[in-house]
Formats: sequence, structure tokens, C-alpha cells
Amino acid sequence: MTVDAHNHLDRCPAPAALLDEAAVVGLDGMVIAGVSPAAALAQRALCAGRPGLAWTLGLHPEHAGAHGPAAAAEERAALTRAVQLRPAGIGEIGLDRRFSDPDRVGAQRAALALGLDLAQAHALPVVLHVVGAHAELLSALRGARWRGMVHAFGGSAEEAERYLNLGLHLSFGGALTWGPSKRRERALRAVPAERLLIETDAPDQIPAPWRGSTPAGRPAMWPAVAAAAAALRGEEPAALAAQVGANARSLFGLGVGLGLRPEGSPTPDPRPAAR
Ligand SMILES: [Zn+2]
Repeated sequence: MTVDAHNHLDRCPAPAALLDEAAVVGLDGMVIAGVSPAAALAQRALCAGRPGLAWTLGLHPEHAGAHGPAAAAEERAALTRAVQLRPAGIGEIGLDRRFSDPDRVGAQRAALALGLDLAQAHALPVVLHVVGAHAELLSALRGARWRGMVHAFGGSAEEAERYLNLGLHLSFGGALTWGPSKRRERALRAVPAERLLIETDAPDQIPAPWRGSTPAGRPAMWPAVAAAAAALRGEEPAALAAQVGANARSLFGLGVGLGLRPEGSPTPDPRPAAR
């Protein structure tokens, strides 16, 4: 059994059915990564009663500043308040150069700085998102030791080395299945087994067998990503699955099990309890 280290189950249609399907392919844990503090309550509700699930509190760089500087400041205040809901980590936070408007870059930097402060203050792991800004992110992280992950890592082996030296795990997603990339493969092989994570990023980053034929990725596609990683690293798929599962479990303090009803138990009453 193993763990999807990063997905957005709360943004997927019919999450309960997706959990059933995920258990069938061997997942017994997953981390539901946050993109906005407004989603925190729903993320937390999805994890309730499911020991293998955890959620992280985020302000994603694509989201930060997307609605102007005033809204961005309010979202940062909401991020600080929502730490009281006891997330398992802080993120997604980070830098994404696809959104290069100066206000948005400023909002990304402010959300990143705040998120890093909150993670340190509350001793929580970080979930970092970075596209095209490794040098700047590495310099923001410099001078401290970090616990956490860089999700959907797309940097070079040299950049991987620098994140590893800061204490971070590196997570790889569906892009591993999208065809050969010497750069990605070198980076994947540079990560020691005990710092490796595998994720679906569902509903995003759909792996190759389904890409183009289905509109949304699902956590149950995880084995396709793990199989690609195992083949590229020359490792046994089952051993890799066990190792990356243990890595994610200890990083985010996950329990075991997606909280499915035991065979034959009655369907829970979906109506809210009477007061
Ligand atoms: Zn994500």
C-alpha cells in the first residue's frame, strides 16, 4: 500500500468514489494540497474519519494576486487565521513565472514569505510549487533547514541537489509519463530513495495512458506515474511504491487507510444530524 503525495481531491468530481477506486489500486493514503485558504474547511471535512488522508493549507502562486492587491492581502490574513484548523502542512506556496504581471509576482512573493514563516512557527512541512523560478525560490529558502516537498519537480539534477541539501523531498508527477526528457530523468535519478515522492496532482497532470482522452486526472492513476519512475530509476515498482509511501507518511504524519466502509456495512445516512 502506498501514498499519493499530492493531489486536489477536493477539486475532483465525486471524491468518495475516487477514494474507493484509489484503494483498489493500492493507495491507503494521500495528501490533499491547498490552493486557497477559502478551501480549507472543505479539505478538512474530506479528511475527517479517514486516517490516511491529510490536507495542507495553501495560497497557490497561480491564485495569489489573481484578484488584485487588496484581495491578495485579505487572503494572506485568511491564511494566517486558517492555521488554527491544524493542517498537516503549509502549501502550495511558491513562484510561477507563467504569471508575470508585477502585482501577481509581488503577491506570490508575499504569500511565499508568509507561508514559510507560518511553517517555521508551527513546525509544519512545506509544499512548494515552482515553475521557472528555481534560482529565486532557492535563495528564499537559503539559510534555513526545511522539511517538506517540491511538488511536480521540473528542475535540473543540479537544482534537485540544492533542494535536497536544504532538507526537502522532491515529488514527481504525470510528466514522467509524457515521453523522454533527459533533464527530468537525470533529476529523478539524482534523488535518493528516502527523499522521493510520487504524486498525481489530480485532476491536473494526467498521465500518458489517459492524457488527451479524459478531461481530469484521478488519484487511481498513481500506479502509472510510479511505474514510470521505477522504470527510469531501474527499481522494482513494488519496492519503490513502499518506499515513497513511507516517505510521504512520515513527512505529513499520515495514518493508514482511506476510511472506507467495511464490506457489508450500512450506507451512512447522508442527511445532516438533527440538533
Ligand atoms: Zn497541485
